Amino acid sequence: MKEIILLKCGEIALKGLNRSGFEDRLVKNAKRKLAPLGDFNVWKAQSTIYVEPKDETADLDEAVDALQKVFGIVRLTRACVAEKDFADISARSVEYLAKIMPEKRTFKVEAKRSDKRFPMDSPQICRELGGVLLEAYPHLKVKVDDPDITVNVEIRERAAYIHGEQLPGAGGMPVGTSGRALLMLSGGIDSPVAGYMMAKRGLDIAALHFQSPPYTGERAWLKVKALTEKLCVYCGRIDLFSAGFTEIQEEIKRRCPEELFTVIMRRMMMRVAMPLAEKEECGAIVTGESLAQVASQTLPAIACTDDVSDIPVFRPLIGMDKQEIIAIAQKIDTFDTSVLPYEDCCTVFTPRHPRTHPTIAMVEDAERALDIPALLARCEITHERIKL
Ligand code: ATP
Ligand code: MG
Repeated sequence: MKEIILLKCGEIALKGLNRSGFEDRLVKNAKRKLAPLGDFNVWKAQSTIYVEPKDETADLDEAVDALQKVFGIVRLTRACVAEKDFADISARSVEYLAKIMPEKRTFKVEAKRSDKRFPMDSPQICRELGGVLLEAYPHLKVKVDDPDITVNVEIRERAAYIHGEQLPGAGGMPVGTSGRALLMLSGGIDSPVAGYMMAKRGLDIAALHFQSPPYTGERAWLKVKALTEKLCVYCGRIDLFSAGFTEIQEEIKRRCPEELFTVIMRRMMMRVAMPLAEKEECGAIVTGESLAQVASQTLPAIACTDDVSDIPVFRPLIGMDKQEIIAIAQKIDTFDTSVLPYEDCCTVFTPRHPRTHPTIAMVEDAERALDIPALLARCEITHERIKL
């Protein structure tokens, strides 16, 4: 029996004239996701996206699992394909539903006929197929309001489809439909979650990681790459950049008051990120900051960081508790990698008593000791494209 997957788009339906562009993007993202799993035809028709295996070798369970991680899909439905012939539809329905019907007590049939050449109209299909199913499963009763199962039949252009199990999709918007953003990606728990959340709103994610060799080692970098790979499951391919941060950190340590080290470091991170964001056509920066989580994430400290950014800084975790963030990290499978104990550049020079209420005037004054343009000019950035 031939089975396909129907994808129902969510908020995309709201996008009026842009809708087609959103759906095209979703088709592209779905195709890319399915490519390693076999040969599939993917096409859209009447606000549904169809995923059809081209041959028997494609594993539909695997495909469903992969598609459940594609943003922009609210619901996935498996369906069996029948000829546009009532006898075939009946036979296939009985066979296809054999697994689930024994555990149901009430049902109804809903039919949609978009191919008006089909000789029966929708009420007729419902009535007749209802009769066929009652005969095949005599324990069932028809119930119009709130039945245990609604059997959907669609008579479409290419074939008839009988819907089976419905599964939840990842929701959100297709990655790439909201533009592109640069994620400041540490090896910690928070920033991968922040990247995931913004990808869910349709942003294509590029990532920037700061390394400070020899204070940070190769294993810390490999950990960041592993996290980026995990993010690719949801974000698609990711351009991962690494900036050498050693000299900048050493200079801040040498020349600025210790209590302002972290906030000045964050401002320097922003200054490195800004031209890269421009070059990469990223319209925003994303960080994993959460209000009051640590000294550099108080309101005054965040204001000092934002002060040097001239594009929006998105902080999707700002109002979340650590436990809530961890729950998402576990769901997206980044948690176990994030907690591996390798040094991050942020922890290398952490001041003993960081100032929680810095002012912009105070940090600007302290930064006068640094030759910022020269430091930025010497900061080297490398690039790798990460994909699954
Ligand atoms: P995380 O778990 O994401 O590391 P955190 O709670 O440990 O967050 P900080 O280490 O103070 O907080 O970092 C705050 C944010 O700054 C991070 O979420 C991340 O966006 C950015 N950041 C920190 N360290 C780095 C780094 N080495 N490279 C790139 N961005 C970083
Ligand atoms: Mg950190």
